[in-house]
Amino acid sequence: MAKKIQAIRGMNDILPAQSPVWQYLEGTVKNLLAGHGYDEIRMPIVEQTNLFKRSIGEVTDIVEKEMYTFEDRNGDSLTLRPEGTASCVRACEEHGLLYNQTQRLWYTGPMFRHERPQKGRYRQFYQVGVETFGISTPDIDAELILMTARLWQQLGLTDAVTLQLNTLGSNAARAEYRAALVEYLSQFKDQLDEDSQRRLESNPLRVLDSKDPDTQALLADAPQLHDHLDDDSREHFAKLRAILDAAGIRYEINQRLVRGLDYYNKTVFEWVTEQLGSQGTVCAGGRYDGLVEQLGGKPTPAVGFAMGVERLILLLETLDVIPPAVTQTVDLYLCAMGEGADLTALLLADNLREEHSWLRIQTHCGGGSFKSQMKKADKSGARFALLLGESELAEQQITIKDLRNDAEQQTVAQAGLSDWLAEAML
Ligand code: ATP
Ligand code: MG
Repeated sequence: MAKKIQAIRGMNDILPAQSPVWQYLEGTVKNLLAGHGYDEIRMPIVEQTNLFKRSIGEVTDIVEKEMYTFEDRNGDSLTLRPEGTASCVRACEEHGLLYNQTQRLWYTGPMFRHERPQKGRYRQFYQVGVETFGISTPDIDAELILMTARLWQQLGLTDAVTLQLNTLGSNAARAEYRAALVEYLSQFKDQLDEDSQRRLESNPLRVLDSKDPDTQALLADAPQLHDHLDDDSREHFAKLRAILDAAGIRYEINQRLVRGLDYYNKTVFEWVTEQLGSQGTVCAGGRYDGLVEQLGGKPTPAVGFAMGVERLILLLETLDVIPPAVTQTVDLYLCAMGEGADLTALLLADNLREEHSWLRIQTHCGGGSFKSQMKKADKSGARFALLLGESELAEQQITIKDLRNDAEQQTVAQAGLSDWLAEAML
């Protein structure tokens, strides 16, 4: 036998048994976004490599070591998108969506990063991304956070996630702080972990993020970002906090929260859970007022976030909060036995669907014994099995068996089935 070809490591199939949960999550998110006046945008999954280099930053982990970059047949350098914000900005600029107007946008789809695969960390993973453009006031930052809090409430995740909040200040304030941090850390350079030594040169703020205990100990006495903030950022942050306080959103201020992409300023936030080990961030975002201009557009304030879909699904499963109805995918299973029964079954199902578009009916198809058909009916998760045998066919009747309750089976006229179901399925 020929050797079987397998999927690429870190790239997952989403199997039929898992799809209902994905659809439940995606459906809940879509309704939530629609309820807040956000519009969907769809971008290609491949872009010019320079788009990501210029936006995410040359010396970030993503650009340095995680991108899937290749040359296409024309010799152009292309990259599978590692995130959506850069593409979204590019698309908006290209189609004039940012000219004299505000935008509230969302997208969903696969992202690609060459990381070490583990639970909650994959090489192809899905994000739902939300981006807003043209609004500089902190009310929009708050709207995004309130919207995510509402989502946790709808999904039953509120008690499992906490909000980490920080402000990075203006670019100038951050540059001033960076200099102070470098000056402080340089005294201890030899004691820093290897990654942090490298980052001290290339991207010193990321040292704050180090997981190394010795580095963390050194950071205890390091200069504080909040001592270097500009007045505008300070005021923005205070207003954001006032809105969150008024809305009853709890948060923890974490001055070490810096994010792994270079384009953020002012507000940054992460929703984290302790349920998923070290892959605990389920949603992350912030303000990026400089990015549109950096990519060639007019200065445009912007703020957004992205959620990791796989991590949210893992969390739903871990906490066992998926409503049972989500995984029940059909209401009726229609069995047909005997000469001519299969045709009648198909027509009957078709008529029912015409009358009740909400009814989910699976017809058996393919014949087989009564017993084997009933087994499938039971496995389908349907509430009722409808049985069409020779006698039912002759009498224009149908037998209804309740698969979930211990009720007597009933035989009704085919002409009355629609009404019977409308009542029973209420
Ligand atoms: P992490 O610190 O976990 O690597 P990140 O800061 O690189 O996350 P972002 O670029 O902010 O992540 O992406 C937003 C969200 O997308 C993350 O909070 C996470 O939920 C999800 N995510 C990021 N990378 C992966 C991945 N490789 N596999 C699965 N989900 C991911
Ligand atoms: Mg990462």
